[in-house]
Parts: sequence; structure tokens; C-alpha cells
Amino acid sequence: MLNDEVREKLIQTAVEARKWAYAPYSSYKVGAAVLTASGRVYDGVNVENAAYPTTMCAERVAVFKAVSQGEQSFEAIAVASVNGGMPCGACRQVLSEFGLDTTVLVVNDQGEIVHQATVGDLLPGAFRPQDIVRES
Ligand SMILES: [Zn+2]
Repeated sequence: MLNDEVREKLIQTAVEARKWAYAPYSSYKVGAAVLTASGRVYDGVNVENAAYPTTMCAERVAVFKAVSQGEQSFEAIAVASVNGGMPCGACRQVLSEFGLDTTVLVVNDQGEIVHQATVGDLLPGAFRPQDIVRES
């Protein structure tokens, strides 16, 4: 599924999405693009806010867009920033909800891969859905 052509398209979508980033406070523009098992791609950007903690990362915007369209199985996600910054812990946790095998492609603003890993690589010991045990 993630052949060279698809990988490149995913990366370019993430890079191009950066132009929509709303980052007036940090000026750190991030774009993301998630590839679903059905072959669709959903992009996302970071959306900052004057009340800083309410800011949302590009990765989670992309995942939430996909989930809100009925997608819950992800092949890969590309994350683009000027320097290829890594996904934060919260985004790693959100990605882990939908599987540890999702490929994470971290790229710079030229689309060059700076880091490649799986979600499981990035979040060892993730708290998973099966970890919730209901007590009666
Ligand atoms: Zn994040």
C-alpha cells in the first residue's frame, strides 16, 4: 500500500498543508497527512489559540478529520515542519489508539524524510484500548 508513489504523495500533501497552518504565536507551521487503509488521505495543520493550551497539533487534526469521516484504520502519517520535528506525546497516544503499526514519516519542509518509525516505536508501553478494564 505504501509504495514509493503513495509515500511521496502523502509527504507532499503534508508539506503543502503547512500553508494553512494557523501558527501566529509560535510561527512553527506543521502539516500532516494520514493515509487510511481505504486509500484516502486526510490532511491537517496545527491550529494555535491565544489561550495556548487549547492549541491543536496537525497530526491530531488529520486523524480526527479521518475518524469523523468513518476511518479508523491508518497505514501511515506524514508530518511536515521546517526542521522535521517529531510528533508530541499526545499525538503519539492518539495514533496508538488506532494501531501501533502505522508508519510515521517525519519530514522537513523540503519533503526529505528526517525520521521514519512506527507508532509502536515512538510510544513503547502505550496505554491501549484493551488496557481499560471495567470494574463492577
Ligand atoms: Zn502533537
